[in-house]
Amino acid sequence: MDSLTAGIILILLQMCIALVMAGVFFAAPTEKSTRYWALAGSYIALGVLIAILNNRHPRALVLMTGAGLIMVGLIYQWHGIIAFYKKQPPKWTWLICVIFLVLLGLALQLNAAKPQISILFTVTTLLLHILSFHTVWQGQGGPPQTFVQRLVQGALILLIVGNVLKLWIAGVQIYGGVVPVTRSTFDVVATYVIPAAGTVLFSIGLLLLYFERTIEENRHLATHDELSKLFNRRAIVAAGERELDLSIRLQRSLTLAFIDIDLFKHFNDEFGHVAGDTVLAEVAAILQKTCRSIDMVGRYGGEEFLVVLPGVDLSGAALIGQRLINAVRDYRFLGEHPVTISAGLATLPLDGNCSWDQLIRRADAALYEAKDMGRNRFCV
Ligand code: GH3
Ligand code: MG
Ligand code: MG
Repeated sequence: MDSLTAGIILILLQMCIALVMAGVFFAAPTEKSTRYWALAGSYIALGVLIAILNNRHPRALVLMTGAGLIMVGLIYQWHGIIAFYKKQPPKWTWLICVIFLVLLGLALQLNAAKPQISILFTVTTLLLHILSFHTVWQGQGGPPQTFVQRLVQGALILLIVGNVLKLWIAGVQIYGGVVPVTRSTFDVVATYVIPAAGTVLFSIGLLLLYFERTIEENRHLATHDELSKLFNRRAIVAAGERELDLSIRLQRSLTLAFIDIDLFKHFNDEFGHVAGDTVLAEVAAILQKTCRSIDMVGRYGGEEFLVVLPGVDLSGAALIGQRLINAVRDYRFLGEHPVTISAGLATLPLDGNCSWDQLIRRADAALYEAKDMGRNRFCV
């Protein structure tokens, strides 16, 4: 493959990426990263186009424009990754482009040879790829966990390898003292093919990363309650029903705890609904903290919670019931107010003969009993 064909392929790729990213951005304009990536694709495509047109009879200013546009594109690409991880891209990053252009201008003034200019260009792109890699690594909190995360990091490594190969080629040319008139296949592979493959994988990886996060966010929204951060009613019931099936099949114990905040209407009337909301969130956090990691806690209704306790039998239920009551009673809400809860617990009978609705009804009846007996207590 000659360098012209390879260069045109790279331009087309970048333009396609820019269009796809722009499409995703228009579909979800709140996501800033796709806007950055669309800009990146456009700038890089334009930069490469200028570089190719300028290839035959290089003129300094045109060369600087083309190379500068590619750097701007790479910085935008990095900014997109920073924005993806919900951070603000720092302004100083543009300094990289400025320093590059100053050095390039100087090199051209001093009539530097082609390999030397190639080294300057490659070192700068290498730096930007390493910075992108660092941002991805930090954003993911270390080594990749999912296939998509591996794809993104792998693509960046491919781009970095391409840069190192280009540095090596330029080094050989400088120390070997020969600059070939036409590019070798190896040179074209390092200059165009690896960047093209790396760019495609990287861009698709970024998009998949974006989709992966969107799906995860939607799943979380659909299963969690905004105020308490616990499972919402649908999710806790679904989890509870699954757990009941499992417990019956494996002949394991299971306990449900229905919890209601005592005289919460009074609290709201006295201190306002905003304070009430804070108490609700604090109660939720206490319940979550007091339970084991395998227990599932959800907000069932207004100020009612449901806790699913797998493997907990009658004696365990009494223990946990008291622990929950004590934990809330001993806490001072908003730093000063005492609040209590009542709990009704129901345990799966030994013969496993109980439906979800029956178990819930029993827990609810036990809760009413606890309320009738004066609140701030539990009944099994
Ligand atoms: P008790 O349960 O002890 O019988 O008395 P209560 O006053 O708590 O009675 P009930 O459970 O019937 O009242 C529920 C109250 O909880 C009504 C409403 O003011 C309050 N509440 C429900 N959901 C929310 C919420 O999301 N935020 C706030 N601040 N209050 C809520
Ligand atoms: Mg209630
Ligand atoms: Mg209540």
